[in-house]
Amino acid sequence: MLMFRQRRPGIRTLRGWAISVLQGAGAIRECEIHGWMQDLADPHARERAVAAARQDPPASVPRDEAVAEVKDVLDSIGDTCPECPPD
Ligand SMILES: [Zn+2]
Repeated sequence: MLMFRQRRPGIRTLRGWAISVLQGAGAIRECEIHGWMQDLADPHARERAVAAARQDPPASVPRDEAVAEVKDVLDSIGDTCPECPPD
């Protein structure tokens, strides 16, 4: 049975890598209660994450693609946790 074969192998891994780069740079963080990623809206942290992606992309991933993935993850993450009550 090949029903669960991944359609685009590697994408999940690349996204996970991008998230770890963004977390390492302090651009995003995980809600401690619910686990949602939050964009911290820190332009310097974003620059650090993009620079880190450019300098050290994952093996076999083109530099541009690694940087694009980091930006894509940033675009997909909101600046608040959807489950935390608003202030
Ligand atoms: Zn939360």
